[in-house]
Amino acid sequence: MAHGDRSACTREWTAADVEPVSCCVCHIDGDRVYDLPPFAVVRCPRCRLAFVSPRLRTEALQAVYDDVGYFEGGVYGSTWSPAMVLQRVWTAGRLGLIRAALSRPPAGTRMLEVGCGYGLFLAAARQRGYDVTGVELSRSASRHARDVLDLSVHQGQLDAAVLDGRYDVIAAWDTLEHVPDPVAFLRTARTLLADDGVLVFSTPYFSSLPARLLRTRWWTLKPTEHIWHFTPQSHHLVFARAGLAVTRILRNPLAPANFGRLDSLVGVARRIPDLT
Ligand SMILES: [Zn+2]
Repeated sequence: MAHGDRSACTREWTAADVEPVSCCVCHIDGDRVYDLPPFAVVRCPRCRLAFVSPRLRTEALQAVYDDVGYFEGGVYGSTWSPAMVLQRVWTAGRLGLIRAALSRPPAGTRMLEVGCGYGLFLAAARQRGYDVTGVELSRSASRHARDVLDLSVHQGQLDAAVLDGRYDVIAAWDTLEHVPDPVAFLRTARTLLADDGVLVFSTPYFSSLPARLLRTRWWTLKPTEHIWHFTPQSHHLVFARAGLAVTRILRNPLAPANFGRLDSLVGVARRIPDLT
């Protein structure tokens, strides 16, 4: 999911809109790191994963993603912007990363993108020959992907989407930090991933220089939307809990797949084979 400048997070949220949650790995409460009423950022005392608790209830979260403004003003505006240029650099870099990670050519290779937004990455992948499908929570964005770009996109959460067969590539760009339960999300993704498939992802990271220096002023903190805050270490842990091994993490802001992003990383994960 991409990040618009304007979003429903500009509205006033109250204690009635939020609920406490526990660590998705350890199922215990976190210790307070930042107070951002009615939200807070906490850290699990056992595994060190950071997350937002209390956070928006499910219905309020859906309202955030249904707001058309969530995607506008940034990457998806109709006028030229630096964000659109960045989006193209990322798309080319990420398609290159996938091509390098896969042992097969794109033609006919099945790709699923979860959190596909308006469908720009999927449309570029389709142009390279991938057989593409998307899942997107936002009703307005998924409608655009279907009606304007003629993509096959399911609206809703990943576990509710009716999908057929397994995928050679599952992409989750800036998505994992938004999902209600990352371990559950990755377990579902694993069931959809071919034995030799790759799961590629990007997220902000909590141990990045901007996050550590700017603290509550970190522009990516956004407690309404970014409800899990990973580090490379917690990525390994969360993915392993879902039966996936993170095999590559790219933090370099000069790499095309992560270009200009001082506080985000791009990763590649593969299935840990089932024990027999
Ligand atoms: Zn934990």
